[in-house]
Amino acid sequence: MNVRVRIAPSPTGLLHIGNARSALFNWLFARHHGGVFILRIDDTDQARSERQYEDDILSGFSWLGLDWDEGIEVGGLHGSYRQSDRLDRYRSVATDLVERGLAYYDFRSSEELDRLRTTAQKSGRAPAALIRNPGGSLDEARRRIDSGEKAVVRMDIDVSKSIEFVDLVRGEMRFEGDAVDDFVVLRSDGSPTYHLASSVDDVDYEISHVARGEDLLSSTPKHIILTEAMGAAPRTYAHLPLLFGPDGKKLSKRHGDNSVKAYREQGFLPDALFNYMSLLGWSLDADTTIFTRDEAVAAFDFGDVSKNPAVFDTEKLSWMNGMYLRAMDPAEFEAQAVSAVEDDVGRDLEGDERAVLAEMLPLVQERVKFTSEIAGQVRFLFVGEVDYDERSWNKTMKADAPRALAASIDGLQDLGDWSISAIERVLRAMLEAEDLNARKGLQPIRVAITGSNVSPPLFESLAALGAEQSIGRLRAALDRLDADPD
Ligand code: GLU
Repeated sequence: MNVRVRIAPSPTGLLHIGNARSALFNWLFARHHGGVFILRIDDTDQARSERQYEDDILSGFSWLGLDWDEGIEVGGLHGSYRQSDRLDRYRSVATDLVERGLAYYDFRSSEELDRLRTTAQKSGRAPAALIRNPGGSLDEARRRIDSGEKAVVRMDIDVSKSIEFVDLVRGEMRFEGDAVDDFVVLRSDGSPTYHLASSVDDVDYEISHVARGEDLLSSTPKHIILTEAMGAAPRTYAHLPLLFGPDGKKLSKRHGDNSVKAYREQGFLPDALFNYMSLLGWSLDADTTIFTRDEAVAAFDFGDVSKNPAVFDTEKLSWMNGMYLRAMDPAEFEAQAVSAVEDDVGRDLEGDERAVLAEMLPLVQERVKFTSEIAGQVRFLFVGEVDYDERSWNKTMKADAPRALAASIDGLQDLGDWSISAIERVLRAMLEAEDLNARKGLQPIRVAITGSNVSPPLFESLAALGAEQSIGRLRAALDRLDADPD
């Protein structure tokens, strides 16, 4: 089978999880069959299309590792893969359809069409039912066009014919001809509709399988009619289940920002998002949730995609991200950490700082769920003074805090051996002597040293920071408490 599949985003917004999932399934199918994955840009809606969104979409696909073989930026045998470059082609197809009697110029005003719709509704019929070819000769229509009258081009649907096809996900589908409206293919300003541009592209680019969201299922009979009208064989279709939030409602803004960019900025890993998205309507087998790209490629088939809506659950995704972070090669984790910390502190780390960070990282890798949390956990090692997180401070620096801080300074300031075990010994003795439990006695030290009550383990943190800095920070916290005892 010569597999050629495509993703056809409209650059009218950031790359959304739903579109990324469609791209991913197409990509898996192409890779499984050694086929071609094509990226075209559906930018016929010039008013809403923006370059910044196109850039975001391309960089989102690249970040996810969904490389495309043909299309935008890559090129291919079919000229431009941008619809706005192909307007003449769409117009010529529309004109040809009119010439061949398969489509017609419609001069009716919008008021007239509204009247027809209202009449249809009143008689309980679909609004489409009465908007049909009013007849008239093509010569007359041409004369009117030449004299400057405006018309749309509509397909002339044969209402006696039903449209049947086998959807790879949904099985046998059948649409009655009279339920398909005489849809517009060319607007009166000469611009193509989605139906025309998409169908022409799918034919011209020799797409074998069209896999897209189920919201487009009702467009498919129109695309089949257009494809056949162009003298081509219908493509094979697969309509992918829609994404729902955990509340059972269609995924939307209400569920938060579901752009790929937002997940990327929150510190999700592309491999984790890839793995999680591949489970949105598909599964590797009955019980494996974590798998490699190669395993997914080897097993993927549209025929195994579920008809049921898929639930997009960010908690499950976060859990999976944590699994991927912990499984990450430590050298890779270190590379990510170094760049995150350098971005955070706004300077390059020096050699000995790199060593301190490297020592701390195994402890961090066990704890974080997102790469974006790394810098916050280790920042305290690379700044002169800590910025206290006020919530941590207020929660922790209570009645026993001055005592715990003062006794820790006493115990630590003369410690010759600044090792993790020696620090631990001193601080445990302090708890004992002051009769404090670990929370009351050690949390103030954590806040004093790291600025926050969420940090890597305390004794290791003190050891990594060094004696001088650590004692200095304990004193600074005590001074702050003395100055503002409440
Ligand atoms: N530009 C359309 C969209 O983003 C493409 C739909 C299709 O795959 O045909 O929804």
